[in-house]
Amino acid sequence: MTKMNDSYRHKGLRKKLVEEVRSKGIRDENVLAALEAVPRHFFLDSSFLEIAYQDKPFPIGAGQTISQPYTVAYQTELLKVEKGLKVLEVGTGSGYQACILEEMGARVFSIERHHSLYRKTKLLLAAMNYRAKLFYGDGYKGLPAYAPFDRILVTAAAPFVPDAFLDQLKPGGILVIPVGVGDTQVMKRITKVDEENTEEERFGYFRFVPLLGHKSR
Ligand code: SAM
Repeated sequence: MTKMNDSYRHKGLRKKLVEEVRSKGIRDENVLAALEAVPRHFFLDSSFLEIAYQDKPFPIGAGQTISQPYTVAYQTELLKVEKGLKVLEVGTGSGYQACILEEMGARVFSIERHHSLYRKTKLLLAAMNYRAKLFYGDGYKGLPAYAPFDRILVTAAAPFVPDAFLDQLKPGGILVIPVGVGDTQVMKRITKVDEENTEEERFGYFRFVPLLGHKSR
């Protein structure tokens, strides 16, 4: 399958992308190394092969998108990923973000609401030898059976911060989530200090597809 071919040309385009993302302000070398390691063109339809390394979001089917690499890097940097941490991603989509987290040594659990994306991504990640555990379901509820998590990353726009996410974080754990109902959302980093207390930081504005409600498909 030509799509699974990671050529020197693709590797070169990836290096350029990493420099572009670095020039936009990403400083965490582990994030940048992961961006250089994961072949983004594998996650896109073959018609996007030539443009897979542009710093842009692209459609992945079911009306959803693979996030812009800068946004992936930004959220990952905020998440303070370390080797061995247990990370829940809400919104698997193409699986690209899950692979970035795994490249950084995280134990990744990821949940997706669209069955077609869940199935396609499960096959792709297995073919690429990634071990992230993928789940089909409603991410609003988190993943209680596998909680608690050291980190939770939400990759779709949430109208509010669901209690389930804070409940499923370990004390000292970090949640990164874009929050807002309009065209743009504010990126929040919420640290669960202990069972009673959280600390919230706000970062820039981003544009995400919305987190789907319980009834939508
Ligand atoms: N992280 C993805 C990637 O690397 O390709 C991109 C995420 S895309 C911007 C948002 C994803 O969240 C979509 O795949 C969408 O189907 C999924 N999603 C939306 N609502 C959800 C929900 N309630 N539970 C789980 N996933 C959801």
